[in-house]
Amino acid sequence: MSENSTNGHLVHVDNVIKNFQGPAGTIHVLKSVNLHVREGEFVGVRGPSGSGKSTLINMITGIDRPTGGSVNVAGHKLEKMSENELARFRGKHIGVIFQFFQLLPTLTTVENVMLPMDFCRMWKPSERPERAMALLDQVGLADQAHKLPNTLSGGQQQRAAIARALANDPPLLVGDEPTGNLDSKTADTVFTLFNDLVSKGKTFLMVTHDKELAGRIPRIIEVYDGILYEDGKATTEQKQ
Ligand code: ADP
Ligand code: MG
Repeated sequence: MSENSTNGHLVHVDNVIKNFQGPAGTIHVLKSVNLHVREGEFVGVRGPSGSGKSTLINMITGIDRPTGGSVNVAGHKLEKMSENELARFRGKHIGVIFQFFQLLPTLTTVENVMLPMDFCRMWKPSERPERAMALLDQVGLADQAHKLPNTLSGGQQQRAAIARALANDPPLLVGDEPTGNLDSKTADTVFTLFNDLVSKGKTFLMVTHDKELAGRIPRIIEVYDGILYEDGKATTEQKQ
């Protein structure tokens, strides 16, 4: 067990509630959900649009805060952290991969990969370019290092975003529909890369709509109307 896990788990979501205030009143988006992920697990999250998948992901990455309950990732209690602490925590411990890549358009591919290293300063400035190039090489993109993102294909941009997610060697990778904007062949290549990363010890939590890909993920969580289900059983405790 590494320093990142608490009771053997890297991710703890305990009785998490998330409400939003809408024009017609309170919207209950996560209804006291539980999720525990061990180090080295590959977990898929499925469910209809609007069921609460991205909200769940945002609770785990600290991009948004729960209304109730608690989230612990890599030994850190997220509710105890300020926004600044959360940003730094995320930079070091979580690599986030989005559907639309979110690369900075004015930076080259290799500069995009160096950005999280500059932010977290875990490597000396002189080591960063070499590390970024090694990560681009790992995702098969070394020859695109000095190009701007908009000159790359969708699959190449997503591989650049994966290299960026690995910049600070985080234990946890989180993807919110990371293959959602790719054709099926490209999605397959990216998925193979995710599997490789898990086999090298990363923990991966991935939201996907893709039935075929979900069928290849060893553990699946389903989200319906703000409730998480595993093997058909709700993870929300019944109220007494
Ligand atoms: P999914 O990712 O499963 O498609 P989301 O987690 O994005 O679903 O959204 C779940 C529900 O929460 C939706 O009804 C959505 O409209 C609502 N929601 C999400 N974010 C907000 C917000 N910032 N303000 C109000 N409602 C929101
Ligand atoms: Mg979503």
